[in-house]
Amino acid sequence: MISKRASQFTSFIVMDVMAKAEELERKGEKVIHMEVGEPDFPTPKVITRAAIDALRNNKTRYTHALGLLELRQVICDFYFKEYGVNIKPDQVLVSTGTSPALLFAMLAILDHGDEVIISNPRYPCYQNFVLAAGGKVKEVKTYPEEGFQYRSKDIKKKLTPRTKAILINSPSNPTGIVMSKDQLQNIAQFDKQYIISDEIYHGLVYKNRAHSILEFTDKAFVINGFSKLYAMTGWRLGYCIFPKKFSKVMQRIHQNFMISANGFIQWAGIAALTKAQKDVAKMIRIYDERRKYMLARLTDMGFVIHVEPTGAFYVFADARHFCKNSYKEAFRIIEEVKVGVTPGIDFGSGGEGFLRFSYANSLENIKEGLNRLERYLGKHK
Ligand code: PMP
Repeated sequence: MISKRASQFTSFIVMDVMAKAEELERKGEKVIHMEVGEPDFPTPKVITRAAIDALRNNKTRYTHALGLLELRQVICDFYFKEYGVNIKPDQVLVSTGTSPALLFAMLAILDHGDEVIISNPRYPCYQNFVLAAGGKVKEVKTYPEEGFQYRSKDIKKKLTPRTKAILINSPSNPTGIVMSKDQLQNIAQFDKQYIISDEIYHGLVYKNRAHSILEFTDKAFVINGFSKLYAMTGWRLGYCIFPKKFSKVMQRIHQNFMISANGFIQWAGIAALTKAQKDVAKMIRIYDERRKYMLARLTDMGFVIHVEPTGAFYVFADARHFCKNSYKEAFRIIEEVKVGVTPGIDFGSGGEGFLRFSYANSLENIKEGLNRLERYLGKHK
């Protein structure tokens, strides 16, 4: 029998769209991918070289359960340089991606039946991490006109003695919206609970700058990684920063369930944080060019963008005036004009009627994809 817990895990709808794309591609169709949340750039060479050197030098063993001290120190230096916050290497756990780091943070703070507040819409996997750790999800509705940010009074209404954490994500997937200093400060007032801040899209910011929750409270678990900013999705490397008193428990959790993250890949992580600035700056310039183009075209076509997305690589476009069922619409679009988009419903009921477009694709492909979409809209709307 499949456990009740496992049968509750929801699937990632974007994967269904990707499966459809693959089916069409096997038939020889050229599909334009605007559904995938994955950088299209190769990993910068300085990073790849560091991994190859590490392999040549036989860095192929387990490391400390929390991760290589050298990498944890570099992560601390990075958070000091970027945000002026002081963290120590014993507050950092390096794992095989941001995803396991988030799961381990949940395991460290949740008892059976404890509650975690998440927004609706949000990244689709969040609820499953909570469930996996025996917790319960409390959803808070957010509004497009307010950039899908929490209203404090709505958080307050959901707080109970079992609330252990409030989860935030800025820059956000799916909206690309970056929380302001004030908005983060506002969330930090809830630090009787823990704030779990998913900062994986930090660095991919095209206006102003992103702030870390650690600037406003140290009762936080920060989740971050290398997948997005350094185009390293397949390397599987991420980390969690946590309050000092969790050091031993995080170490114990990781010893048991992972032993350690991959040794030679952690050396590549050091190169990413210390040597890849130029490559990152180049990718950011290109993303921003695509972002501006996509925003202008989508707006021209009649999509509504309520708040300008200035981070990550997504545009969450309001299509409610013509799209009642985003799942069906996404499939109709890919079948008719071979363009992959992610249905808003993937991110929760609050995303219904929206479509998420990713600009992690070349400008040439984005132009072609949007031309096709324009033809589709001309025919149906
Ligand atoms: N958080 C968010 C918001 C994401 O979009 C993703 C990747 N799609 C992750 C976490 C997980 O990233 P990874 O495990 O590759 O570090």
